[in-house]
Amino acid sequence: MIFLLLVLSLQGMGSDCSSGRNAGSDQSCSYYNNDPFRKPQYKTPLALPDSWPINILRNPMDRSPKTSKTRVVMLGTGMPSPNPYRSGPSHALVVDGFPYLIDAGEGVWRSISKAVLINGDKLNQAFSPRKLNVLFITHLHQDHTVGLPSLVLNPLNWIYGIRQDIFGPVGTKDMLKYINLAWLVDTDAAISDGFDPEDSRATAYDIDFEEDGIVYEDKRVKVEAFRTRHASLENTFAYRFTTSDRIVVFTGDGGPYNANIVRASRNADILVTETVTEDNIQYAPWGGRSIEDKKSTIFQFHFTPKILARIAKEAKVKTIVLSHEQNYNQDQEYDALGLVNEVRSAGFEGDIFSAMDGDIY
Ligand SMILES: [Zn+2]
Ligand SMILES: [Zn+2]
Repeated sequence: MIFLLLVLSLQGMGSDCSSGRNAGSDQSCSYYNNDPFRKPQYKTPLALPDSWPINILRNPMDRSPKTSKTRVVMLGTGMPSPNPYRSGPSHALVVDGFPYLIDAGEGVWRSISKAVLINGDKLNQAFSPRKLNVLFITHLHQDHTVGLPSLVLNPLNWIYGIRQDIFGPVGTKDMLKYINLAWLVDTDAAISDGFDPEDSRATAYDIDFEEDGIVYEDKRVKVEAFRTRHASLENTFAYRFTTSDRIVVFTGDGGPYNANIVRASRNADILVTETVTEDNIQYAPWGGRSIEDKKSTIFQFHFTPKILARIAKEAKVKTIVLSHEQNYNQDQEYDALGLVNEVRSAGFEGDIFSAMDGDIY
């Protein structure tokens, strides 16, 4: 027991918990939440090393510039495989105190609540539910959209409604239509029970740009959608947000190199993006049995660190924030910063961070 405690405390103290070379000393390296942990004997998607609390080496942090009017809030940084410390992919850009959501992965309301509880009044006002009116969906894979029923339906029984505009690829309107149909029993009951779901209304808009275009604009932000490549999906978009003081780009899921993602990312202050290990791809629990099979499958779905570094260099991106990381390895070799190091080794010289749920950039 003493040995175990020693190992854990060394892991906390001795490791560089920073996720980027600019990270300061204002972070704590902790055994996450002091949660108990018993090492699983069998590897299943429910027990991969990236979900072990002993491999989560720091608490969430606010790394946003003190004076910035534009802040990226990492709501859910997880993969499809369940991880109790990471919700499904979902992010928010808060501009002048108003939130814009990007993707609605599993647990989206809970991740918003978590971000508020971690950061207090810094986000409490911004995430006042009535302000949560706009969502952009990068693509219709389930891990990025499975939170949508909850996002839309949960407010039906609240004391006030929320109006939501949902922008996404072709198919988004249908998705909302079928969500409403699937939960018709519930909404009918809500009306009978005296609630007023009519006050809570979501409207979906399909984006069908051939290449790119402005999808949304108000006094705080201009949002452009850029068509990207992501395996066999025909319609996937990256979103480029231009505010009064920052350019922030959310790539959604990646894939092979393509010129449009470079155009989307041009001169971005922050690129919120994903990557999958190339060095340790043999440990990926999907994509085929051989290394060749895994490479030819997985690299159609996700950016390799080399592709990501190339895109970021060509686009002159200042900072990369990694989310939705696929950081595979054997138990003993697992390194929480493995993908940061792979992207760095591939030649990206800007700042790069491995994000956690609740981080602010
Ligand atoms: Zn995807
Ligand atoms: Zn995904």
